[in-house]
Amino acid sequence: MGKRVYVETYGCQMNEHDSERMLRLLEDCHYSETNKPEEADLILINTCSVREKPEQKVYSALGRFKKLKEKRGTLIGVAGCVAQQEGNRLLSRVPYLDMVVGTDAIPLLPQLIGKIECSGEKSCETGINPERPYLTTPLPLRPFDKIKSYITIMQGCDHFCSFCIVPYVRGRQRSRSSQEIIEEVRHLARMGIKEVCLLGQNVNAYGKELEGELDFAELLLRINAIEGIERIRFTTSHPADLSEVLTRAFSDLDKLCEHIHVPFQSGSDRVLRKMRRGYTKSFYLEKVDHLRKTCPSIAITSDVIVGFPGEEEEDFKETLDLIQTVRFDDLFSFKYSPRKGTRAVQFDAQVEERVKQDRLATLQGIQKEITLQKNQVLEGSTQEVLAEGRSKQSDRDLTGRTRSNKVVNFEGDLNLTGTLVPVRITRAYPHSLRGEITDSEFTFGKGGSYGAI
Ligand code: SAM
Ligand code: SF4
Repeated sequence: MGKRVYVETYGCQMNEHDSERMLRLLEDCHYSETNKPEEADLILINTCSVREKPEQKVYSALGRFKKLKEKRGTLIGVAGCVAQQEGNRLLSRVPYLDMVVGTDAIPLLPQLIGKIECSGEKSCETGINPERPYLTTPLPLRPFDKIKSYITIMQGCDHFCSFCIVPYVRGRQRSRSSQEIIEEVRHLARMGIKEVCLLGQNVNAYGKELEGELDFAELLLRINAIEGIERIRFTTSHPADLSEVLTRAFSDLDKLCEHIHVPFQSGSDRVLRKMRRGYTKSFYLEKVDHLRKTCPSIAITSDVIVGFPGEEEEDFKETLDLIQTVRFDDLFSFKYSPRKGTRAVQFDAQVEERVKQDRLATLQGIQKEITLQKNQVLEGSTQEVLAEGRSKQSDRDLTGRTRSNKVVNFEGDLNLTGTLVPVRITRAYPHSLRGEITDSEFTFGKGGSYGAI
């Protein structure tokens, strides 16, 4: 019998996809995935250090797995941002840890496993070479998820926002070659993937550091032409890199879904300057306006931070004003969390926890109403939904997403999985929509309108 690997993943889609890449590499070492740590021969904890207390989370996860090490000799590894940041410190603090796999070391995983299996030698790989191109993983033998797939198109980030750890743990921006990305999408299409989501910290800056490479809008155009792919998404975008051509792509490319996630972080110009975001509130509002004029059905989501050092009541009001002006479809809101090694940790006037908490609650209350109202606008419309399979709530329901990325549950036959289904929206909830299959025409999409409320 082959060996089993259990992977525990924290953080964003990029980390989820890195876990998929690790699983793919481990297939070649005869490891298959299990969701039960107690039957695993190898446990990997894939970590994130963007917010909160990531080191504590890792140490407590390691504590949970210590008994398995003693009982079964399970190999244990830590990967991702905390691995990158802590390196050898992790190995010396946790004697039963076998491997530390930094953010750039995923392709080396088979070698690291081989080393520990053959000689019992522990490994710590945390080098990031800015000159080295993005290291790819062999193409999947079969899709991990039969309908949708992530594709990482770039690593790292060049922006160095003062609050953010990413450039330190993921390195400078490194884009993959467009040829390689297009090959991967073709491969996924041949395996039946219908929707691809292009991933990167700042995807709309794709290719900037590579001479003669396609830019992001051109890359989308090429992917749009790949037969078999029905939908294209991407995340995350930076407002400063949101070009005119990219905005136009939302109305020009039939497969590009009408949704953009474009974090604004704060509505105060003073705070944006201290964050080193490289734009102002009015610049951001102009981008939103342009997106909606070019593609009226576009859904816009964003990220915001409250309680950044020096944020006064007036600054916070500017943030609320931006939220009420834009009326985002959804918003991911965070309390500022100091990150060791970033500039903002040194700033005076760190905001008290209680104030951060109050501001977060106020903001989330306002956004909750807006999200519900935005969803209610869709009641009575017919949406194109990509059916993804059975819903977790009911075995009669299918679940899927609209082009605008909203979850819809509706009754339907399992055979519809992987197809685009016209669904009439009957009821809106804060986090999802209810609908029924219909034979009427889609009323939203490229030609429809949205954002009127
Ligand atoms: N590259 C994207 C951008 O610039 O818009 C964001 C990527 S970041 C990994 C994801 C989100 O985490 C950010 O948009 C920000 O809102 C949040 N974040 C990052 N660092 C943070 C910190 N120190 N405290 C709180 N939230 C943070
Ligand atoms: Fe971090 Fe995004 Fe700023 Fe890059 S652009 S430093 S990933 S917040």
